[in-house]
Amino acid sequence: MRRRPAPSRGEGPAAAAGLLGEGGEKDGRCGCHSTMADILEKRVERRTVLPVGLSCEKQTRNEETVRIATVLRKLLGVTSLLVKAVMFEAKGMVVNVRPRWRNPWCSRCGKVCTAYDRCPPRKWRHLAYGRLLLWLRYAPLRVDCPRCGIHVEQVPWASPSSRFTSEFEELVAYYAQQMAKTAVAKLLGIDWRTVGAIVERLISERLDPKRLDDLTVIGVDELSFRRRHNYVTVVVDHLRKRVVWVGEGKSGDTLRAFFDALGPERTAKLTHVTMDLSSAFIAAVDERAPQAEKVFDRFHVQRLASDAVDEVRRDEVRRLANRNTGEATALKQSRWALLKKPWNLELREESKLAEVQQTNKRLYRAYLLKESLASGLDYRQPARAERHLDNWMSWARRSRLRPFVRVAKTIQRFKQGVLAYVRTRLTNGLVEGLNNKTRLITRRAFGFHSARALMAMIHLCCGGITLAPPLPVPT
Ligand SMILES: [Zn+2]
Repeated sequence: MRRRPAPSRGEGPAAAAGLLGEGGEKDGRCGCHSTMADILEKRVERRTVLPVGLSCEKQTRNEETVRIATVLRKLLGVTSLLVKAVMFEAKGMVVNVRPRWRNPWCSRCGKVCTAYDRCPPRKWRHLAYGRLLLWLRYAPLRVDCPRCGIHVEQVPWASPSSRFTSEFEELVAYYAQQMAKTAVAKLLGIDWRTVGAIVERLISERLDPKRLDDLTVIGVDELSFRRRHNYVTVVVDHLRKRVVWVGEGKSGDTLRAFFDALGPERTAKLTHVTMDLSSAFIAAVDERAPQAEKVFDRFHVQRLASDAVDEVRRDEVRRLANRNTGEATALKQSRWALLKKPWNLELREESKLAEVQQTNKRLYRAYLLKESLASGLDYRQPARAERHLDNWMSWARRSRLRPFVRVAKTIQRFKQGVLAYVRTRLTNGLVEGLNNKTRLITRRAFGFHSARALMAMIHLCCGGITLAPPLPVPT
């Protein structure tokens, strides 16, 4: 029979791995000395199984050759596995494999057990060789475990419930940390929902059960998704700078579920909780961790004043509507000039602010109140900060600006928590930073449809989980 020409070096997977030695040339050799690329080509033609154990004899006296089964095993990169056969099918290359060990293991407890029966063959998706998709096929045994009952055996290349090999899943999770889910799906040839499912499963296995131990300083914040229709509550460990818990919702009960998971012993160790001025969270902390000092995030406190300035501005716009006076003109496009920090103002905004100062006393008073509150929180000495805050509250109450009277009442109510910031300098900045990261995650994934998928992604990207993706070692 006339043999098909062997592909040039650099084409086949084995060639890509550099495993076809110089002896891979076919010229002047008999059929039994075919290269792996030759044999694979033949199998494509006939669509039959390549039996294990085919080997090339030594070509020359000094030239070492490698068994094809060994080549494939090395290419698969999975230890404790034996290659039985290889074949090409419509969706890629399928390698029949089996575990190297003789006696099966229970997939639940890891004990060596007796075989019960055999399941039908299954396929696991493995890392692709370039454009060629690769699958492992094996009919796993079911074992009769004295401890766990009848279960499928543990295979060395995958988790018990997965249809993907561990290396493939590791790569999916690594890519999901770095890029959009749709890009991952395209790159690896899987559905984007599968990316989410793989991440969820990996997190359920990898989440460090000790992450809730030794918590002392924590931060609580909520994160919205699906256009602010749904929320998750995120708890961070300020000392280790990572997310330790994520729960669905933003109510007091959500935070109570965190305290339930923490248990009374570990809750008693909490010293500080940073949070925004959410009454639901405050009530939950008061109830479950009364010993922990509540530290209200300075930026949330300042936001109260910023919102009040905006409210005053809107009131003024309404009052001056349809009037063509200098006062009304000054209000146009004044929003950012009033809300931005003074040192961030552009020249145009500075002149706008000066215009407001000259034409609208009420609004300029609101602006000064906002800035005064911010400078009060800059104090390092708690006593001076307290004095400033007291003066500020009495000024706000007398300001005849209704939004600021309200802010003064709120700050009076939460005064100790606001001053706790001056003492501890703790902010929710870490949570906010993580929130920005997770916002990016949700945007990248075109919005998460379930809180569970988002929670898994937050743990994956901000939970301090280390992955070992099969990446090449830098040369
Ligand atoms: Zn078992």
